[in-house]
Amino acid sequence: MQELVNLKKVNLLDFDRKGLAAFFVGLGEKPFRATQLMKWIYQEDVYDFDEMSNLSKSLRAYLNENCEIATPEIVVEQIATDGTIKWAMQTHCGNRIESVFIPEDDRNTLCISSQIGCALACSFCSTAQQGFNRNLTTSEIVGQLFVAQNRVGKDRRITNVVLMGMGEPLLNFDNVVAAVNLMMDDFAYGLSKRRVTISSSGVVPAIERLGKACDVSLAISLHAVRDELRDELVPINKKYPLKELMEACRENAKIAPRRFITFEYVMLDGVNDTMEDAKGLIKLLKTVPCKLNLIPFNPFPNSPYRCSNKETLLKFKTMLNDAGIITTVRKTRGDDIDAACGQLVGQVADKSRRHLKLQNVA
Ligand code: SAH
Repeated sequence: MQELVNLKKVNLLDFDRKGLAAFFVGLGEKPFRATQLMKWIYQEDVYDFDEMSNLSKSLRAYLNENCEIATPEIVVEQIATDGTIKWAMQTHCGNRIESVFIPEDDRNTLCISSQIGCALACSFCSTAQQGFNRNLTTSEIVGQLFVAQNRVGKDRRITNVVLMGMGEPLLNFDNVVAAVNLMMDDFAYGLSKRRVTISSSGVVPAIERLGKACDVSLAISLHAVRDELRDELVPINKKYPLKELMEACRENAKIAPRRFITFEYVMLDGVNDTMEDAKGLIKLLKTVPCKLNLIPFNPFPNSPYRCSNKETLLKFKTMLNDAGIITTVRKTRGDDIDAACGQLVGQVADKSRRHLKLQNVA
């Protein structure tokens, strides 16, 4: 597989099956060329158009001239003591994004990025400090999965993908949807839809659109049960407050039977971890089919927060479980290599100048 993207050529990994069929129809070809090509790429590991023997000679010549199959490139690999692997991957524009491989007994999860940096300014997340450069293309998103799978080898099949790396996936809607379609397509990577999760800070109109566009699992970064506090922690709340967010979640959960939303709640000492907060959570979450995932806060340089103590965390978990809300505590993985939630930073040429703005505020 070619590593660096040539801007002049069309990258065929930028299309999901529907997009690829439309591309071929645009060339005067039959739509089934899409599945033929996908079988070569995804099932046969063939990336050389000349080897794709069921395509006509003239089509192969056209593809050679105008198209490519390209992914980001691993430039740094770090392995944590618990086996977690973090990669910095270089994009064609010279920025670096991060992806994290998390091996467990019953699954191998890959956490991938959807944007270079992040335009949101969640106060407890270090990616926010990096500012924002641009959306990742579909090939850069799905490419993280192919590159990671190649790197870890066939005997460590990646079984789950979470879009919980750098960026807000629902602010890069079309490319993210095409990428997850490829991940779940039997002609491509073939993951089950329950094993692909998009995590969002709560972009309400996109949550509604997502339900109609594709059937992936949804996780929502809740982190507070009062608008006043959530405005501070997850500032997009000012635009889409809790009431609207919960309504969108209820609608999303209706898409399929037995569907539920995972709510994420970062535990910040003295900020959002009182028993009042727990009671508020119970009241709020009773209205949606859901599970709750408590995330111990992972520190980063100059962060103003501390993680709640163990006792508080356990008390919170017990209270919620006792109220009938299935609640788990996320295991912190890879924190010795800064690979844990909210610690991914890559290397971002900030175009939003957010970094400067944050410094001015401080
Ligand atoms: N933009 C997406 C993906 C973010 S990362 C979103 O907001 O959901 C995945 C989860 O890690 C989110 O719930 C995010 O709020 C949380 N997170 C961010 N920084 C963190 C930190 N320092 N410690 C623990 N969790 C953090």
